[in-house]
Amino acid sequence: MMTGRRLGVIAMVACALLLAVALGGQVVVKRTTTSRVPSTPTGHGSPEPSRPPVRAARPAARPSGSAKPATPGRRSPTRPPAAVPSLRTMTGTSAVALTFDDGPTWIWTREMLAVLRQHGVKATFCVIGTMARTYPGRIRQIAADGHTLCNHSDDHDYQLGTRSEAEIRANLQATNDAIRAAVPDARISYFRHPGGAWTPLAVKVAADLGMTSLHWDVDPHDFDRPGPTVIRDYVMSHTRPGSVVLLHDGGGDRSETIEACRQMLPALKDRFQLIPLPPRRSP
Ligand SMILES: [Zn+2]
Repeated sequence: MMTGRRLGVIAMVACALLLAVALGGQVVVKRTTTSRVPSTPTGHGSPEPSRPPVRAARPAARPSGSAKPATPGRRSPTRPPAAVPSLRTMTGTSAVALTFDDGPTWIWTREMLAVLRQHGVKATFCVIGTMARTYPGRIRQIAADGHTLCNHSDDHDYQLGTRSEAEIRANLQATNDAIRAAVPDARISYFRHPGGAWTPLAVKVAADLGMTSLHWDVDPHDFDRPGPTVIRDYVMSHTRPGSVVLLHDGGGDRSETIEACRQMLPALKDRFQLIPLPPRRSP
């Protein structure tokens, strides 16, 4: 039979556990609503730091390592919010554009550039200002290889579009400044909102700065790391003339995306002309 003292201890432990669960839940929710961008350079061969594996439209609080995400093959392509006008989701021609988000990173951007170079493919890199300041050499390599640079915000703030016009403008300008610190004459004609969480105001500010707001029409969810063959098969079966394909060279381990590109680029090239989105006037 338990003593009163022992019951008291058990009650205290139970309360502490409940409190920990409650606080843990808060932390998880917070992670989904704030920006988090790796800013520390990592050494050669070491894992890249990663930001939270979430997107704006994704339900919050899926504990990492628990339920496996649905494979891309069972999802329809992500569509932009219907209420937001002037989003570019296709190239406008029969050519197809591969786009890589969330870099530049030390390892994955370098490897992706090597694969693209090997196959003679030009693409579009939507880069984060913080990352551009961390790896300016990668920005220079992207430009030197003939790829198009796209503004993907300064800090990958999913809520950027809900902030004041002045804040959005400062954020996008800081990103362009970071890119131009590496490549002074860079033409930055496109903006992609973090997580595709567009608002009309974000699109307007981007347009004021001379940038077209770039969404996509093919999303293999490579961010969830479903395996290179799943990524490859999804892209091959959903890409059509004019598609803009969303892929990633940052935000975590992107070895699957690189392997998928290795496997699919020859076949994609057979079926489509692959282009970097054409840069236009400078902001
Ligand atoms: Zn992103």
